Amino acid sequence: MERTMENKEILMDALKFHGHRCWASVAGVRIGQAALRTLAVKRSGGTQLYGIVEIGEAHGGMCFGDGVQYATGCTFGKGNIRKEPYGKLALQLIEKATNRLVRVSYKPTLQKKITESAFMRKRGMGVMPDEIPLEEQMELVDLVWNAPEADILTIGEVQAYPGEWFPEVMGFKPCAVCGELTAHAYLRVVNDKQVCIPCSGYDR
Ligand SMILES: [Zn+2]
Ligand SMILES: [Zn+2]
Repeated sequence: MERTMENKEILMDALKFHGHRCWASVAGVRIGQAALRTLAVKRSGGTQLYGIVEIGEAHGGMCFGDGVQYATGCTFGKGNIRKEPYGKLALQLIEKATNRLVRVSYKPTLQKKITESAFMRKRGMGVMPDEIPLEEQMELVDLVWNAPEADILTIGEVQAYPGEWFPEVMGFKPCAVCGELTAHAYLRVVNDKQVCIPCSGYDR
């Protein structure tokens, strides 16, 4: 990856968003930026891109997903990202207009150094990452950020993605019972009135 000031700025902003400085979120930023470059696309300001993070749930590497979201603009809020439960630090990034996909994964090269670091030893003792001294957080950030790309990333061939894309349903309406704004696709009809799911008595 190019070691530009712009990329470094994105990294620092990503870490601010994430809440602490850790190796997995840096890996996410690097993988996200490498995927953008390989597809020759910009960060997704709208929903032009779709990401699949293979991270899964309930383990210490999920921080990876925040780095990916920040770098690619594929975010859980916009809904153009989803998790695949493989427990891997890997991203599949798709440009929707051309249905081209690239998969980028993180190599185990640095894991011995990471495991033996002061940061990870303290994490192992249950210390919260944002309570670990800044220099010890930055040691791992710099390790992952400064590693040569070929040492830490595997970038696959660009391939065709066989998926289909459905348009977003725009618009909200107040529920006829509670008055709260509800997205159209989530309104249900009860006694000829459009109501939200909790007011409808239905499960979904
Ligand atoms: Zn983290
Ligand atoms: Zn309601």
